[in-house]
Amino acid sequence: MNDDLRELYQEVILDHSRRPRNRGELGEGAVHVHGDNPSCGDELDLWVRISGDGRIDDIKFSGHGCAISQASASMMTTRVKGRPSTEAAGLAATMHTLLTDTSAPAAPDGLGELQLLQGVRQFPQRVKCAALGWRALEEALRLHAAKLSTGSATTEEGDSL
Ligand code: ZN
Repeated sequence: MNDDLRELYQEVILDHSRRPRNRGELGEGAVHVHGDNPSCGDELDLWVRISGDGRIDDIKFSGHGCAISQASASMMTTRVKGRPSTEAAGLAATMHTLLTDTSAPAAPDGLGELQLLQGVRQFPQRVKCAALGWRALEEALRLHAAKLSTGSATTEEGDSL
């Protein structure tokens, strides 16, 4: 990562951690999951509402923890809101590789500012922080799929990650 990218990384992370997007809670009809990262003390609650045609209608999160955990969650919500849940699942998998696989090639095109998150590879103790929101998203999508397959219309409460 060159100096320009490093600067941009810090700028974007700071901006999202100071002014998190999509912060709050969703009520009925949303899938709720709780995730934590004990090694750092990060906590995250995520609500995802998926429409009948499989689109992420709304997504909100609350929580506390280090700047990178909150910024990454904020960036995740802005990116997947309004997108098909299948696309969001693919993105979560891409981000998992980007964050954890140091042998992976550079970020694929089209990630936008999300590619800056690969900057955490320089800080191995921060990888779980950056991954927390994405893990919660994957869990929420799994719960939603399970809910559909059982035909249950009630709000599911996810297990702790
Ligand atoms: Zn953290």
